Amino acid sequence: VNGGNDRDHEANVQVVLRCRPLHEEEQKANVQSVISCNDMKREVTVLNSLFKQADKTYTFDKVFGPKSQQRAIYDHAVAPIVNDVLEGYNCTVFAFGQTGTGKTYTMEGELMQQVGELPASAGVMPRAVRHIFDMLEARKADYSMKVTFLELYNEELTDLLASEDQSRFPEDRPKRSTVSLMEDGKGGAVIRGLEEIVVYSPGEIYSLLGQGSARRRTADTTLNKQSSRSHSVFSIYIHVKVTTIGNQEFMKCGRLNLVDLAGSESIDRSGAKEVRAREAGELNKSLLTLGRVITALVEHSGHVPYRDSKLTRLLRESLGGKAKTCIIATVTPAVHCLEETRVTLDYAYRAK
Ligand code: ADP
Ligand code: MG
Repeated sequence: VNGGNDRDHEANVQVVLRCRPLHEEEQKANVQSVISCNDMKREVTVLNSLFKQADKTYTFDKVFGPKSQQRAIYDHAVAPIVNDVLEGYNCTVFAFGQTGTGKTYTMEGELMQQVGELPASAGVMPRAVRHIFDMLEARKADYSMKVTFLELYNEELTDLLASEDQSRFPEDRPKRSTVSLMEDGKGGAVIRGLEEIVVYSPGEIYSLLGQGSARRRTADTTLNKQSSRSHSVFSIYIHVKVTTIGNQEFMKCGRLNLVDLAGSESIDRSGAKEVRAREAGELNKSLLTLGRVITALVEHSGHVPYRDSKLTRLLRESLGGKAKTCIIATVTPAVHCLEETRVTLDYAYRAK
């Protein structure tokens, strides 16, 4: 880390917790709730499932209980760092948690079908897009913008926005368009073969998001629920022209990464046997390394193991230094997920 004091650094990594409500079926089945959130005190308490007593309490930068609306998450946890993107910062929002706890709901929610009012269930992605364009318009800014959307599965990158002609000869080409990660020699990463799409309006981005997200879901059915084990990374690159009082012009270049991480249960601690265990290790190298990188950054320990996984190489310029990070840890209150919930809370708490 580049020598910032602790206070600076704390502001640069925010860890917030979101607990989803029980589904209707869970409510009907009287599933016991063992997580209690105190949004005001920023506390989450794990209840002992037998006696309903407090077992362990965690404090986060923000806590969003089961009644929290999508808008509240965006306004209170995400909007502040999106503001910084236009000032030239690299900012990243991660959704982290067990499969089924609301990572995709939080990040995508209801995606926009067309330009118009944001629906109440719109997630971080459409809200960030709207927010960015609103700010650019308000400033009458001169800007350029491009987006990328990729998926990382088993340390392999796929371009979710690859153009259709990639499959012009379907028999010759793999269905999924894989791309490769190279070093740019300046500590950053370039991705060979990745489509960077220049965009001019929120509508264009909404349709790209819809397209990419649909591809991820399609792959799901064919590749054995791949999405619970894959990470998706949507990035918006913005260059804003700034004119100083002396009429000098320069560019502020910011980047926003919105990352829907693989299910945290796939960091397999369960002693799964041979093949599966090996597979799990390989699959989730990125998730494990991300945890180590964030811990190293938060603890200011010297070596930050960016190079150990594709995800951290990809996001290197957006992690540490002046970059801003928000981790949204998601959990379910359901008693049968308690052990996974504890793991999520411990992991997230360590990142604080
Ligand atoms: P994940 O991406 O973590 O696997 P999902 O986002 O797919 O989880 O959420 C699982 C289910 O729970 C979905 O049906 C989703 O709509 C619902 N859900 C998740 N979070 C919430 C929430 N905060 N409010 C209402 N429904 C939610
Ligand atoms: Mg998901």
